[in-house]
Amino acid sequence: MAGIVSYRPSGKVGPAAVVFGLLLGGAAAVALGWIYQLAVDFVSGMRAGFLLTAFYGAGIGFAAGYGARLGRCRNPAVAAAIAGICAMGGTLATYEFAYLHHSAAIYASLDREARPASLEEFREGFGMARYIKLRQKVGWRIGPGRAGPGIITGLLVWVVWLIELVSIVVVAVFLGQVPVERPYCEVCGRWAVRRSAGKVDGVDAGELGRAVRADDLGPLLLPRRRQGSRVQARYLVYACPSCAERHLTVRLRRARERGGGEENPGRTVADRAHVTPVQVKLLARHLGDL
Ligand SMILES: [Zn+2]
Repeated sequence: MAGIVSYRPSGKVGPAAVVFGLLLGGAAAVALGWIYQLAVDFVSGMRAGFLLTAFYGAGIGFAAGYGARLGRCRNPAVAAAIAGICAMGGTLATYEFAYLHHSAAIYASLDREARPASLEEFREGFGMARYIKLRQKVGWRIGPGRAGPGIITGLLVWVVWLIELVSIVVVAVFLGQVPVERPYCEVCGRWAVRRSAGKVDGVDAGELGRAVRADDLGPLLLPRRRQGSRVQARYLVYACPSCAERHLTVRLRRARERGGGEENPGRTVADRAHVTPVQVKLLARHLGDL
């Protein structure tokens, strides 16, 4: 019986991780921020709005996480913090972008004779504070040519801004950790390469679950099929490009029932469990025989 030892990041992190994380995360926050604040005015409905904030947060999170990975961050908490900072800064920047584009639109809509000579001059009298006041009064949509007053006004505008900020930051914080969760070989100083080792349809999920609870790697490496099972096991191997360090992840997924049954979201039975190259070969041969 071989015990299951899961990968644990060393927690090590150098200045390069912080620099690259902030650079990539910041670049994504600004670039996507422009698109985001323009798109926000065009979507209608809470659902589309939430989806958009989730996409924005995910973009920042992944970019910051990949930057941290580039800088060899082996500390998910640090990667999460970098992503959170970028998301917070990015969201605040989108409010500035929104101000810039709305103030320009309002200026353009004013009578040529009545308005100040230049946009800069107009903005001197119409600053961020006045823009926020106007936004609270007019509601969720402002700017010429758009639909009339929204239903979200006054204090609610602040509530929506707060929800927006929190959801973008939360999504970024969660996804910022994903790129640095890949096993890192401390001996060689390299990230593992991930590849699929294969899939097994109709696997005996109960047996795999029992094996994990019993801390027994054996049945995971030699999965068996069970009559009538609709569960698919997916095997992922993480390999150090320089040495024999290997880790194995096993995910279960229930096949979708024909005619629209419920879908199992899937679960991970083994998460980056330490294995030897011999065990990986054994697994590959076994999966090939199935
Ligand atoms: Zn290695």
